[in-house]
Amino acid sequence: MRPSFIPRLVNGPLFDPLVYVRVLNERKALLFDCGHFLTITPRELLLIDGIYISHARMDHFIGLDYVLRAILHREEPLYIYGPEGITEKVLSKLHAYTWNLAKDYKLAVHIMEIRPGLMTSTSANLSTEFKDYSAEEYPLDPCCVITDEPRYTVKSVVLDHNIPCLAFTLEERAHINIRGDVLHDRGYISGPWLGKLKEYILAGDYQASIEVSLVMGTTVKRVNELMDELVTISPGQKIGYITDIRYSRENVENLMAIASGTDILFIEAFYLDELRDEAYRKGHLTARQAGTIAGMLSAKKVIPMHISPRYHGRVEEIVKEVYNAYERVSNCG
Ligand SMILES: [Zn+2]
Repeated sequence: MRPSFIPRLVNGPLFDPLVYVRVLNERKALLFDCGHFLTITPRELLLIDGIYISHARMDHFIGLDYVLRAILHREEPLYIYGPEGITEKVLSKLHAYTWNLAKDYKLAVHIMEIRPGLMTSTSANLSTEFKDYSAEEYPLDPCCVITDEPRYTVKSVVLDHNIPCLAFTLEERAHINIRGDVLHDRGYISGPWLGKLKEYILAGDYQASIEVSLVMGTTVKRVNELMDELVTISPGQKIGYITDIRYSRENVENLMAIASGTDILFIEAFYLDELRDEAYRKGHLTARQAGTIAGMLSAKKVIPMHISPRYHGRVEEIVKEVYNAYERVSNCG
C-alpha cells in the first residue's frame, strides 16, 4: 500500500525530538514538536500547515522562530497547537520582533490551546504586527480530535510531565486505493477526476456524479458505481507521537484512548530502566517503559527518540531495552 504520510525523525533519536510528516498528494506537512533543527529545508518549511507542540520547554519550542521566518511571505495560515499556556508563549514570541515593514503581509497565525475538555483558538495577523487578536473557546471534541481535515484527523490528550504535556496521533480516515489494473482494462485514463472520486468517498457522497476520462472521450458515472468497479478501501495510516511523560497508570490510560494500533509510534526513551526512580521524579519514560507502552498500544513499529545526553555513548543498550520490552508485551497480547 502506498503510504499517505511520510514521517521523518528529523534529528534522529539523540537530540531534540522533532517529527516532520509530509502529507502526500497535498502541498502540506505537519511538524510534531519544534526544537532545534538543521535539516528541514526552506522548501519543506513552507509546506508546514500545523505545528503540534507537546510542551514549551526549549528543546520542544525553540525552532518556532525559524519556521516563522521561512513562511512570513506565505498566504496560507499557520496553526500552532500546544498545552495550557501556549497562547501566551507564542504571542510573546510574535511580539518580541519588530514588524514595521510587514503591513502588506498576509500571514495569519492561529494558536490552539488544548486543556482537558477545552480548546481555545486565538488568531493573530502579521499585517497588524500580531497586536490585534481574538480568542474563541470550544469544548474539546469527546474523541479528542483537535484537527479535522477531509483526509485525516489529529487527536491529542493532556498527559502529566510534572506540567501538562500533549501526546498526538495523526490518523488517515481511510486509505482509498484505485485498482490500476481495472483502470487500464476498462479504458479509463487517470486524471483529476480520481482525486474528486476520493473526495466524494471521504465525504460519504456516494450518489454524486463525476465526469470520467476514457481513452475514447469522457462519460459520466456515479460515485457508487465507480467504487464497485475501481476502488478498494483499507484502514488508514496512523502515526503516534509521545514524549516527556511519566510512566503512570493515568498517562497510559489516556494514551490508550487515542494511540492504540499505530503503524508507527515515535516515543521517548530518555533513560535506561536503571534510572526509573529519577525518570518518575522528572516525568520521563525509561526505555523499558517506552517499549512496554508501545506493546500495550499494539504499535506495529516503534521508533525510540529523545534519549538523554548521558546515554549517548550507550544508545544500543537503550534501543535493546525498548525492543525487549516491546516484544515481551506484544507476545503476551
Ligand atoms: Zn524534552
